[in-house]
Amino acid sequence: MKSTFDIMSLVRENVKALSPYRSARDEFQGEAAISLDANENPFDHQTLNRYPDPYQGKLKKKISALKDVEESYIFLGNGSDEAIDLLIRAFCEPRKDSILIFTPTYGMYQISADINAVETVEVPLKSDFQIDLEKALEVNAKLSFICSPNNPTGNDMDTDKVEFILRESKGLVIVDEAYIDFSKRESWTKRLEEFPNLIVLQTFSKAYGMAAIRLGMAFANAEIIDILNKIKPPYNVNGLTQNFALEALDDEETVRQDIYMILRERAAMEDTLKEIQAVKKIYPSEANFLLVEIDRARELYRHLAGKGIVVRDRSKQVRDALRITIGTPEENKILLEAIKKFFA
Ligand SMILES: *Cc1c(COP(=O)(O)O)cnc(C)c1O
Repeated sequence: MKSTFDIMSLVRENVKALSPYRSARDEFQGEAAISLDANENPFDHQTLNRYPDPYQGKLKKKISALKDVEESYIFLGNGSDEAIDLLIRAFCEPRKDSILIFTPTYGMYQISADINAVETVEVPLKSDFQIDLEKALEVNAKLSFICSPNNPTGNDMDTDKVEFILRESKGLVIVDEAYIDFSKRESWTKRLEEFPNLIVLQTFSKAYGMAAIRLGMAFANAEIIDILNKIKPPYNVNGLTQNFALEALDDEETVRQDIYMILRERAAMEDTLKEIQAVKKIYPSEANFLLVEIDRARELYRHLAGKGIVVRDRSKQVRDALRITIGTPEENKILLEAIKKFFA
């Protein structure tokens, strides 16, 4: 256990000194009989007239049981994209500190860093899309973002390599598990006690099928969670989202079935793609998409788009690569037929 890790020494000076906005609902604990503190409309037409719980207590309780993580170790955000932005804002001094990313990877790390005038250092993944440890160790970054399973390559990062970075890094290590529900491996949330510098991101936008409600999670030791709470907008997760998620999370069976279907469809799509001559390589995937190296990738991408079938052109990141999200059986069939026809 690395209990000597000093989180506070990593926090930005102005954030350290900050006292957070105290919302009306922060100051009073318990059930108020009469709430005349927040300038709300008192007439309750659709149970939406009151500000929502700023710390999402009920929802955290449910997520705590679902994910087997203590409530004080959970931060909820307006998508996990909000957690990415808040982490950079909490820990990185603009024009001074940097973040480390392993490319090709999810675009928002760099975008958030750019918005916050924080430098991004890129270490390219090796040809097997695993982390280049030697090069990673040369970088001294406040935050290292490891996406696993990685978007857009689809693979999980080797556990021993992630562990090595967690042990050697002087900064915080964020493991973005947006696609963990499709992967066979265990979540890094199981190892939060072991690594006080570990932050795990997950989301309800992918396997859980709730991208529209914007709800993401960050899991980390309570000290880090407290810092995020200090700088977040007071009501960052709105009441509709909290209520909707509370109900939806009772139905674990639907998510399980969806994941099962998507994984079955992924295997079927892989089989069909393999039969197409123009397909040069299908990268191994632990996610709900396939990265495919294919002849005339960019041209094919445009052709498909013209037919109303939108995939992701990743040929600038990986040679001749398209990233194809697994759709419904009908959608997948139409896509595959269109690809076959293009090359016929
Ligand atoms: C989709 C995605 C997210 C974004 O999740 P939201 O919760 O919808 O903001 C985060 N990380 C990765 C790698 C993703 O692919």
